[in-house]
Amino acid sequence: MEILKPQPTSKAPGDWFTGDVWWDVIYAGQEPSRMRANMVRFAPCARTDWHSHSLGQTLHIVSGTALVQARGGEIVELHPGETVYTPAGEEHWHGAAPDRFMSHLALWEGPGDGSTETTWGDKVTDEEYNGPRANRR
Ligand code: MN
Repeated sequence: MEILKPQPTSKAPGDWFTGDVWWDVIYAGQEPSRMRANMVRFAPCARTDWHSHSLGQTLHIVSGTALVQARGGEIVELHPGETVYTPAGEEHWHGAAPDRFMSHLALWEGPGDGSTETTWGDKVTDEEYNGPRANRR
């Protein structure tokens, strides 16, 4: 076995995110592994831009209050211990609620063929971010 050397925490680039977002690379597999695992921390109101993952993505909420929305759907509020999956190519965003920090474990796969594993789109506007939330009860 191997105890991995922790990588420095990175600030997420502003051209892909709104607000303060930091991540730790937990694991990035070497070929033939395509495993990717990041712990991502969002300040209140911070969120990703619209984007999709070529092989889908699983998000496991670790702390705080998360907001996740797929294109065409309502905003879903998620809490620690909950897990959401976005299928390959489904455009979506994820971030913290306006009044809470949020951290999630992001799990996805690299494409393995050199193509882009995440395709980035438009910023999530304040109007979109403050849109209606799904009633899950
Ligand atoms: Mn995503």
